Amino acid sequence: MFDYEIKENSLHNKVILVTGAGDGIGKQAAKTYAQLGATVILLGRTVDKLEKVYDEIVEAGHPEPAIVPLDMKGATKQNYIDLVNTIVDQFGKLDGALLNASILGELTPFTTIHEQTFDDVMQVNVKAQMLISQALIPALVESKGSLVFTSSGVGNKGRAYWGPYSMSKFATESMMELIADEYEDTGLRTNAINPGGTKTPMRATAYPAEDPATVATPEQIMPLYVYLMSDDSKEINGQTIKAQPQRK
Ligand code: NAP
Repeated sequence: MFDYEIKENSLHNKVILVTGAGDGIGKQAAKTYAQLGATVILLGRTVDKLEKVYDEIVEAGHPEPAIVPLDMKGATKQNYIDLVNTIVDQFGKLDGALLNASILGELTPFTTIHEQTFDDVMQVNVKAQMLISQALIPALVESKGSLVFTSSGVGNKGRAYWGPYSMSKFATESMMELIADEYEDTGLRTNAINPGGTKTPMRATAYPAEDPATVATPEQIMPLYVYLMSDDSKEINGQTIKAQPQRK
């Protein structure tokens, strides 16, 4: 795993938005951030799942989170602006955002990619990421915060059948790099995580025959997720970092 020793309370008093916080890696990141002292804003499209994460955090005695039910497939730029304004009104600041939500679409030969699948994947994984980033950046510049995108092993090297998902992750890395370059001297840092194969519902869909015990759990990949939200990463900008560097 990425080599970083998580320190207790390392995210104390931070306010962090996590998209796709109801399941998989986002759920674990939200719980880990809360455990380390952050107030977490849980954004996702399935309210039941968000409520479960909320309950787990509160029952564990961590800072009370907030729930934002929002489907990034249909959300508008104004929805994201309203979200950021509400966060700043309610919590006074925003220190970090983990843009984790995305969809896989279908794994299929290139010539059979459905137009609708392409549109849906690009909407959620690319356009929504751009719109939410546009809304987030002023607040994150103000706090000298951390904007973290989520890429993939197919985000800088194409792989047969990974179609729109792979294209969307190339776009994600591009977006991360251009924001990092534009805001280099502002104190805002922008990076991306390549989680590597991780035991989640998305992974099970992509690799139905795989033994889940052979891939990392979301909990195991948290050191990088914490590092990029902690003050220890203040000087890191414009990088895509692997959560599992040893994994091919
Ligand atoms: P996951 O298990 O499918 O979880 C994704 C989360 O995003 C879910 O909570 C989902 O909500 C939410 N989401 C999806 N579409 C949304 C929308 N339109 N609006 C709001 N929320 C939405 O995926 P994961 O494996 O944890 O992946 C997390 C990130 O890591 C993704 O960006 C993925 O591409 C990347 N990644 C994962 C792996 C891996 O092996 N797991 C490897 C490389 C990269 P619902 O629960 O309501 O569906």
